[in-house]
Amino acid sequence: MNIILLGPPGAGKGTQARKLVDEHGMVQLSTGDMLRDARNSGTKMGRVVADVMDRGALVTDEIVIGLIAERLEREPESVVFIFDGFPRTLAQADALGDLLDRMGRTLGVVIEIAVDDEALVARISGRFTCEGCGEVYHDTIKPPVKDGICEECGSTEFSRRADDNEESLRVRLLAYYKQTSPLIGYYHAKHLLKSVDGMADMDTVSAEISRILAEA
Ligand code: AMP
Repeated sequence: MNIILLGPPGAGKGTQARKLVDEHGMVQLSTGDMLRDARNSGTKMGRVVADVMDRGALVTDEIVIGLIAERLEREPESVVFIFDGFPRTLAQADALGDLLDRMGRTLGVVIEIAVDDEALVARISGRFTCEGCGEVYHDTIKPPVKDGICEECGSTEFSRRADDNEESLRVRLLAYYKQTSPLIGYYHAKHLLKSVDGMADMDTVSAEISRILAEA
């Protein structure tokens, strides 16, 4: 039974997906991470998508569907996937349904993490990530206990995403409302949608997600 985490940028999809990986041994499939990897490794595709990502626009369906198809085929049948940041368009949702069907896999539940726009802007503008383990911090909401040292792995290297700025965020939010939010209705119609209040603190959201998964 595979899971989709759906929500605007800054909703906490990545943070919750990482928790599910740690606690339930699932495999996180983040198309954002895959595209950033492609970018950092300097592949042709990475160069093609870099500018689109920095602007905050969506990369073409063809590219992201290709990335996901390739990953799904590589993993053993027993693996449970958490899709984080995918699908983001109706075409991607249809393609994912077809891919899963073809592989004899099922989609168990789609969890929407709902967050107010003002909170998203605040969350994203102060966000930074540990280079060592990927733990996500925030200047005011969640600074590391010891300034400049990751609590999880002890690394002192951190980075900020090029698209975590106000201008890109405006484009990303518009892309979310225009292209991704129709998926809420799409999965509701398929009786797969559950919503959680993403304004609650991280542990409460995580407990709610675990409860939904236990019932799914
Ligand atoms: P994320 O890390 O999920 O916030 O994604 C960062 C950026 O990668 C997005 O703003 C898009 O430019 C691109 N991206 C990630 N996932 C997708 C997707 N499923 N479809 C299109 N573009 C994507």
